[in-house]
Amino acid sequence: MSKEILKLGIMGGTFNPIHQGHLVTAEVVRDEFKLDKVIFIPSGKPPHKDNNEIVSSDHRWMMTVLATISNKYFSVSSIEVKKKGESYTRDTILELKKIYGEASDCYFITGADVIAEISTWHKVKDLPKLTKFIAVSRPGYKLDINKIDSRFRKCTYLIEVPALAISSTEIRKRVKGRQSIKYLLPEAVESYIYKNSLYL
Ligand code: NAP
Repeated sequence: MSKEILKLGIMGGTFNPIHQGHLVTAEVVRDEFKLDKVIFIPSGKPPHKDNNEIVSSDHRWMMTVLATISNKYFSVSSIEVKKKGESYTRDTILELKKIYGEASDCYFITGADVIAEISTWHKVKDLPKLTKFIAVSRPGYKLDINKIDSRFRKCTYLIEVPALAISSTEIRKRVKGRQSIKYLLPEAVESYIYKNSLYL
C-alpha cells in the first residue's frame, strides 16, 4: 500500500507577535498551493539577530497557538522553541520530514527580505533538495527574483500579500505608545499581550 505524500506548508518566523497578516498569508498560500496543512514554527533563538526586543519563545509559541486554533489546517510546532542553541531551517525541515514522511513535499513560507539573504544560511546547499520556498512580500517591497542566489531561483515562488501591510514591528510600537491594536491580530492574542504586559 502506498503512503500518502503530504504537501506541507512550513511557516517560519519569529512571530513577535503573530498577527492577521501572517494568518492571511498562510491561508492564501495553503489555498493556492493546495497544501494539506500549514505548520507554524516560531523560532527559538533566531539566527543573525540581537534578541533585545523579542519576548520569550514560550510567549511567542503560546500566542501562535491562540491565533491558529480556529483553522483546522493549521498547527504549531515547538521544534525550534525547545532547542537550546540556535535553530536552522535545514535541521527543522529534516526533523519535520522524520515526522510527516521523508517524501513530504515541503514549502517553506517566510518574508521575502529573509529569503533575499538565503545564501548566508546554515548548510545552504542542502536546502533546495529539501524544500521549495515561498517568499512573501508586503505592499511596497518587491523582491527581484534575479537578486536571489541562483541555486534557489527555480524553487522559489514570490507572492505579494496585501494583508502584510500589518507588521509585528508596528504592533510592538503601538503597544508601547498605548495605541489600539484591535483587529490587527486575533482578539485572544491581544488579550494575551495585555495580560502578560508584553511589549511595554
Ligand atoms: P523575522 O524577523 O520574523 O521577519 C523578517 C521579516 O519577514 C519581517 O518583515 C517579517 O514581518 C516577515 N516575516 C517573517 N516571517 C514571515 C512569514 N512566515 N510570513 C510572512 N512574513 C514573514 O524573520 P526570522 O525569524 O529572522 O526568519 C524567518 C524564518 O527564516 C525563520 O523560520 C528563521 O529560522 C529562518 N531563517 C533561517 C536561517 C538559517 O537557517 N540559518 C537564517 C535566517 C532565517 P513581521 O515582522 O510582521 O513578522
